[in-house]
Order: sequence, then C-alpha cells, then structure tokens
Amino acid sequence: MSLATREDDPLGEGAALVATLCYMCSSECGLLVSEKAGKVRIKGNPAHPVNRGKICPKIKSALSLLYSPSRILSPKKRVGARGEGKFIDISWQQAFRDIATKLEAVREQYCSEALTMLFGEKPDHDVAYWFAFLYGTPNILDHNSLCDTSKRLAYKSVFGEGQERPLPDLQRPAWTNLGYREKHDCRLLILVGENPAEAIRYFWFWQGICEAKRQGMTLVVVDPYQTKTAKLADLWLPIRPGTDVCLLLYLLKNVVDSGAYDREFVDVHVSDFTNMQHELSVPVLDAGLTRYSLEWVAHMTGLEQQYLQRLSALVCTENPLLISVGKNGVAHQYSGFCTTRLAAIITALSGSLDVPGGLLLRDPPRYKSLSNSSDLLRAGQADKHKDYSGRFPLASHGVVSTIPSEILDGVTIMEGPCKGHQYQTKALIVTHGNPLLTAPDSAQWRKAMTARSGDGYQLSLLVVNDSVLHDTALYADYLLPMRHFLERQGVTEQESAIPLTGLRQMAVTPPATTRSPLEIYQGLAQAFDSSDGFAPLLALTGDDDWCDRTLGKAGETAELRMQGGVQARPIRYRKFTTQGFATPTTKVELYPHGAKTLAEQAYYRNEASCYAQASSKARFRLITGRVLGHVHSLTPLLDGASASPYVWLNNVDAQAKGIKTGDLVKLDVEGKASLIARAKVSLVLRQGVVRALYGWGSALSSTPHNYNINELIDSRHLHPISGNAVFGAVWVTINKLI
Ligand code: SF4
Repeated sequence: MSLATREDDPLGEGAALVATLCYMCSSECGLLVSEKAGKVRIKGNPAHPVNRGKICPKIKSALSLLYSPSRILSPKKRVGARGEGKFIDISWQQAFRDIATKLEAVREQYCSEALTMLFGEKPDHDVAYWFAFLYGTPNILDHNSLCDTSKRLAYKSVFGEGQERPLPDLQRPAWTNLGYREKHDCRLLILVGENPAEAIRYFWFWQGICEAKRQGMTLVVVDPYQTKTAKLADLWLPIRPGTDVCLLLYLLKNVVDSGAYDREFVDVHVSDFTNMQHELSVPVLDAGLTRYSLEWVAHMTGLEQQYLQRLSALVCTENPLLISVGKNGVAHQYSGFCTTRLAAIITALSGSLDVPGGLLLRDPPRYKSLSNSSDLLRAGQADKHKDYSGRFPLASHGVVSTIPSEILDGVTIMEGPCKGHQYQTKALIVTHGNPLLTAPDSAQWRKAMTARSGDGYQLSLLVVNDSVLHDTALYADYLLPMRHFLERQGVTEQESAIPLTGLRQMAVTPPATTRSPLEIYQGLAQAFDSSDGFAPLLALTGDDDWCDRTLGKAGETAELRMQGGVQARPIRYRKFTTQGFATPTTKVELYPHGAKTLAEQAYYRNEASCYAQASSKARFRLITGRVLGHVHSLTPLLDGASASPYVWLNNVDAQAKGIKTGDLVKLDVEGKASLIARAKVSLVLRQGVVRALYGWGSALSSTPHNYNINELIDSRHLHPISGNAVFGAVWVTINKLI
C-alpha cells in the first residue's frame, strides 16, 4: 500500500467511496474514504452535519498512522527488560494462550479484580467490557479522569443523570421541534478556558461561533493566554488560572441581586433557590474583602474592575446566553467542578436552558453501550471497583492516575459490603492508550511497570493492544496489533447538538495479521482452559451483531449503513417540561450531593493564598494546552509535522529573568522533577504564568527539547470527589540555562 497523492487520486479512477467517521479526536467528523490498488484517499463528507465536508490537518496523520513504520503488524512477545522495546513476533494462537494462562494464574493466585483494563480511546472496543465483566473484574476504565470528569460530574449534579455533556445550541442549519432554523439565536457566549479555534474539537462549534458572531452574538473569552479564539473575542479577560470560580460566583450574585433571572423557570424547575439567595446575601469576609463583591472578585482573579462590570452587565442583559467551560483549561483545576456547576446554574437561571441558542440538554441515548453491562459481573464483584468503592465514589469511568500506586501499594475498598477488602493490581491491559505520556507523573508509571518482585515484576502481566508502537508499549509483555480506526467497525452516539447516531464503517482493507476488537476478545476468551464463563461474548456472531445489540435491534446496523452511516434527529427544545430533571428533586439542583455552599470547601481551593505564597517564592503557575497534532498515543508520529515545542512566559517576567525567545530554560517543581525546553517570550500571556504544551515528550521522538510536561505533574493532585487529574495546579520555577 502507498499513500495516495492528488496526482494519482484514486477517486478519479472510479474507486468506491465509503462513508465513515474520523476518530483522530472525539468530534468524529464524517469522512468519505476510497481505496483502490492499495491507495487510500480521505476527504470530508459534505453531507455530515458535524463537519459539512471540512476536515482538519490532524486527519493527515490518520494516513501516516496507517502506513507508519511503527505500525504493529503481528502479535509480539517481550524478550528484553521492560522498557527496552525488544520483542519477537509470535502467532495469535500463542499470544492468546500465553495471556489467557497468565490471566488465569492472576485470578487463582490473587483475585479477578487484580486485573485492570484501561482505554485511551474507547470507540469500537465496547466488547472489552464484556470480556472484563465475564472474567470477573469491575476495574475497566477509560481516559475520562485525565480529561473532563470534573466537568461532566458537575453538569450531572445540576441537571441529573444523562446530562454529563449538555451542548451549546450553535449548530446551524438544523431541524428542530420548532421547525427548520438557519439563523443563530445565542446572544452572548462566554468561553472560560476554552479555545475551539485551535484545540479543534467540534467543527460545528467553531463554525457556529463565527456565524453567530457575524449575526450579532457577543463573544467573551476568559483565558490567561490570548489564544486564537481570544483574538476574535469582543472581550478577552486574562484571568489568574484557577480563579474562574470566583468570577462565576460574582456573576451569579449579580444575576440574582438584579433579578435578571427567569422567575417562571426558577419557580417551577429550580430547587433551593431561596437558600441560594440567602447564601449570596450574607456578607462574609474573605482576604479582608466582602465575598462576591467587585473588589473581592478583582482581587481574586487579577482582572480590572471595569471589565468585570462590563461582563456582569452583559450577563444580566443578553439572552439567551451560554457559558462554556474548557475541558482541560478549567476541569483540570481544583475548582473545575465548582466552576462548571456555577456555569450550569447561571445558564439555567437566565432562562437559557434547552431553548434556541442556549444550552441543550441531551436527548436520552438511542442505544445501550455494551459498557453498561455490569450485570454480567458475578454478584458482589461490582463492590470491589478500585474507585467507585475506593477513594472516589463519584468518579466517572474510573481513575487512571492511581493505577501506579495500585500496582505498587494496592487498593483498599473503603465503602460498601466489601469495606476493608485489599488487593493489588497484578495485570494491566491497555487498549489504544499511552498513560506513560498522557497521565500525570510519568516517572511513577515507569516505576510501577518495572518494580521487581522476586524473579519477576510486581505487575505480573502488561498487555498493550494498539496499532502503533509508543512509550507504554515499550514496557509491554505482549503487544497485540489492533486495527486502525479506518479498518474497523463501530457505532456511536456523536457529540453533536443535532442528535446523531453514526456508523464507523470498515473503509480500508486491514492487514491480514491484525484483528478486530471482537476477534481479539473472543480469541482470548477461547484460549482459557474453560471458556464457559465467556459464553455471552462467544455467542456474538460478528461486528454487525454487536453493533445491533448496541443499537437495540437486529438489522439496525445494516439500516444505518443504507442511510449513509448517519441518522440525524431533530433538536428538541424544552425537554424538561415533559421529562423533568433526573435529579433527586426532579429539578435543577443548586446544592447537590449534600453541599452546604455554592463553592463547597471540599471541592474548592482558595487560590489567593496560593498566589501570595507563590509570589514570595518566585514561582509561576504552569498551564498546559493541547497541540493540534496531539491525540493520545499517536503524538510521536506527528513530530515531523510540528516544530519543537516551546514554553511561553510573559515579556515582563522574561526580562526580569534575562530570558529571550529561543533560550534554553529549566523548569523545576520543588522536590519533584525538572525539564529543559526552549523559551518563547509572549506579549499576550498573563504575568506570573508559564504556558507549556501537553502530549509531547515521547522517548521515541527525535524532536530536540521535546519535553513531556507530565514529568512535572504530581499524581497525588487529584480532584477529591471526581479523581480528575488536576494538571492545572502546578507551580514551577523557571530559569535560563547557563
Ligand atoms: S476535527 Fe477531529 S474528527 Fe474532525 S477531521 Fe479533525 S481529527 Fe478528525
């Protein structure tokens, strides 16, 4: 196979086009893919509502991954020490037999919950949940706790079950229950730590923002760095990182005090409103200032009073409004949960919930993901989940950052009928994930993977299931060649304001030596001495069968294929009038989980004292952001397309430290770690902040000064209830390398 160019475009040679979905990020854009004589060409699908024919530069790396020299094309077994990356090719039969034998030994010698399965990317792999549950472990988790668990949990706590990701109504044109809508309705959009112009996530979101702005919407960006999105904003507020929660408390107080809320909505659909009014009206001193006052918020956020007043006036007059908080910018702060909660509350009180141009509640999902099959677990096993009954009972989809400590020190169950039960993680299966690079504290991961126990390793089995070699894969005992996303099938409920069910079709012929997720888990199940326990998994007859089960009806997958791989449904507004909210009170919850205050102490960090302490020790707040090319474990392969990453610092700070653009600088976290990178002096970054990029630093990379920022992140910095990694609470010193 070779990479097609425009000159030998197979589309011009009558090659069939297959409509499928991208999975280089979770936008899942519609693609049209052709393959002829071993040549593959990809273009955007103009009929797909998510991207309407557009694709981003990242998709180019989908082809480079397909043809990568690092592509894993046969099962491999480690022959050197972990981390050396020395492997020999083995047959599938041997790989399945070896792994099954070791998993049986783990279950016999320890317990079935000693197996943890981790996904970096989950789509199309849901059958792995059946394997895990039928083996007997509840410990199967995805990457959410490295991403936006705090944000999702916050929305769920305010709007109820099924509302982890309400979406902005900025997708046009769209069919709705109020008819066909072409024009945008949103009047004010506040992006808090979100940068959709660069950190491409939803094409429709950024396109919608640009169109709505042309139609009169005001755009406000709250971010310590003037991102590309902030450059287009009507108002840019370079806030102190981590203090967004104070800004939103101030705005909420003004909305309530000025009566700029929807009284009818509040009377019928909001619980505890009078308690909240009372809380906001009681004067409390904080840092010597009255909490929620203009002086207080200016002191906490470092923003000028005139701009705060301007923003407050906008929030109290413009409607519908949207406050969208960044998955990484905000959810990665200690106060990310509270910040999102407040954004949800202000949106709801202003009457902007589930209305045209407001925040859309999600429709009930069309299908049941196989991951919701924990009833397949033996009775009592669910209570041994390392997180849900462990340290993070409200964690969503499990906590990744604690895996190294669970390998080294073990798990203690802290709640439920198994309280006091202890075990150690002895086997780990990683599917399309690279935690060594993407999780906090890379050194701790290396330590956990290489810690010795007698003649062997403390973690007795590490399997990596992926399409390319990466840092974590270098430590694997067995590598299983997974199919590239263009070579496999799956169904998905897309992250789109227009409700969409999509089909990822097999668009490219897979190498014969690779296997689909279903084939891998069925092959593994069959290799157990007794495979009876895996009967439901082994009964699946093929990819269409498990997709049909997900969609809930035999023949649905074929039907979806006939419809071009995407089914769109109209947007339905004001769903809460008929279905209410799936919260304990059936209303919008202002004080969920027994919270006594809007910014509950347990979930909220008063950053003012941190900033005061940092300034006395000449420390900088470290912020990180995504790079265009980053997509979990695939990053190393994108190196060639990107320049060496920098760390940014403000020009005044740089001058004080004698640092110029291009200088080598050393970043230190006291008593933890350090790294070296090239500096870039910035006029548009807040003083006292260092900005770095996330997702670089592979040991396989040849890019110079290609730092891995996660070497500096402490894995103990986790949100106390969600277990979300708090990547944003790091203080560093920065000095020129002499
Ligand atoms: S935005 Fe994401 S899903 Fe869309 S083409 Fe780019 S990488 Fe693929």
